[in-house]
Amino acid sequence: ASGSEENDVIVIGGGPGGYVAAIKAAQLGFKTTCIEKRGSLGGTCLNVGCIPSKALLHSSHWYHEAKHSFANHGVKISSVEVDLPAMMAQKDKAVSNLTKGIEGLFKKNKVNYVKGYGKFLSPSEVSVETLDGGNTVVKGKNIIVATGSDIKSLPGITIDEERIVSSTGALALKEVPKRLVVIGAGYIGLEMGSVWGRLGSEVTVVEFAPDIVPTMDAEIRKQFQRALEKQKIKFMLKTKVVSVDTSGNTVKLILEPSAGGDQTTLETDVVLVSAGRVPFTAGLGLEKLGVETDKAGRILVNHKFATNVPGVYAIGDVIPGPMLAHKAEEDGVACVEYIAGKEGHVDYDLVPGVVYTHPEVAYVGKTEEQVKTLGVDYRVGKFPFLANSRAKAIDDAEGVVKILAEKETDKILGVHIMAPNAGEIIHEAVLALHYGASSEDIARTCHAHPTMSEAVKEAAMATYDKPIHI
Ligand code: FAD
Repeated sequence: ASGSEENDVIVIGGGPGGYVAAIKAAQLGFKTTCIEKRGSLGGTCLNVGCIPSKALLHSSHWYHEAKHSFANHGVKISSVEVDLPAMMAQKDKAVSNLTKGIEGLFKKNKVNYVKGYGKFLSPSEVSVETLDGGNTVVKGKNIIVATGSDIKSLPGITIDEERIVSSTGALALKEVPKRLVVIGAGYIGLEMGSVWGRLGSEVTVVEFAPDIVPTMDAEIRKQFQRALEKQKIKFMLKTKVVSVDTSGNTVKLILEPSAGGDQTTLETDVVLVSAGRVPFTAGLGLEKLGVETDKAGRILVNHKFATNVPGVYAIGDVIPGPMLAHKAEEDGVACVEYIAGKEGHVDYDLVPGVVYTHPEVAYVGKTEEQVKTLGVDYRVGKFPFLANSRAKAIDDAEGVVKILAEKETDKILGVHIMAPNAGEIIHEAVLALHYGASSEDIARTCHAHPTMSEAVKEAAMATYDKPIHI
């Protein structure tokens, strides 16, 4: 291990924020140690988040297509069955390949990896209870806290990861539940609801707020909800879960309208609690150091990711901002660049958001509601995938591109896409916003035919002029 020799940079936490920061620090020539308690690298994202959920979304989509769409494409199969253990094994293989890959990257970049629970002794010393039962002290000039986030529990609901599961349990159910209730209509709940819905569960999503995914453009959100409803996902919005009774063979939820009113009972087999995530700093010893946090427990940092304690930095889910893996990675690189005396930069207004259902929804920049509050005159250009040749060719044409641009300058303010693969298509929009592009800039950029991305070009044409294909 690392012990006595002083590091330039210590990173506590090996998730997308922490491992990326560690690799970048080593690339910049810093002697670097990363401390991770989980026993594998990649954090929430690789182990119990982004990666296993996308593996199951892909496998369950294939099953669903095989069962419901293949015949329309002239592919006849006599029987289609779910082999859940095999599906889970493929997911587990994807996870372990990727987490081991990061260990390989650590070796390649000479990042020292200490497996254990880190705790501050001082602003330049971290004591680590190692996973092999020992203890070591790691010293360093700069310490980056990248300890991420944890599941938010709801009062009165005990997660047992069998019948009342968190996202972690929902990624590892042993059989397809007949009925699944998802508490919380955020992207994690909708993605996991989609997985089990496709595999045969009757899915009901219960949400306290009046809308699903609150960060989404309202018009797109409505279409998205309709798309999910067509897939037989039921929504109970403005509804509060009062209590959950697990004493019988089935789980009984007592519900009431968010605004108060008569209670109802909802019976189910499995409940997924996905009501958000909270920053994780347990056992770190931040109080002893005097590191400032906000009411939600997030570590407060300046634009250089420095906390109020000199030499101590924080990045990723544990600080304010969107709780997303790519945002954590951007934080990690910028933080280390600042430590190296260079310029780092993360524009939190241009972090894309993606919901990986089918169709996917991806967006960047402002929603129409946000543009309205800004008070600027704006234009909207839309193009439906029903008029996109590639989407029609493959018979997967549910969705739309919506572009918002400032009326006077044509500068793009926001782009919202619902489409299969929207999460890939969005990046030309992200780039356009970064470069301050106008909708005409996109419209005059040659897009390959036939591609889904042509819908972005056509929506851009519709923003300042007229589209061709509708
Ligand atoms: P984390 O990934 O949480 O990593 C922190 C690490 O620090 C953990 O491994 C933890 O064990 C370790 N740690 C904590 N305390 C200590 C300590 N004291 N000592 C040593 N180690 C410690 N985001 C996306 O962008 N796209 C997605 O598709 C997506 N899907 C998701 C699906 C699910 C089901 C979930 C739960 C999350 C998903 N996310 C997704 C969110 C994403 O996982 C997080 O935003 C991201 O992992 C945050 O990275 P991080 O490095 O800040 O923290």
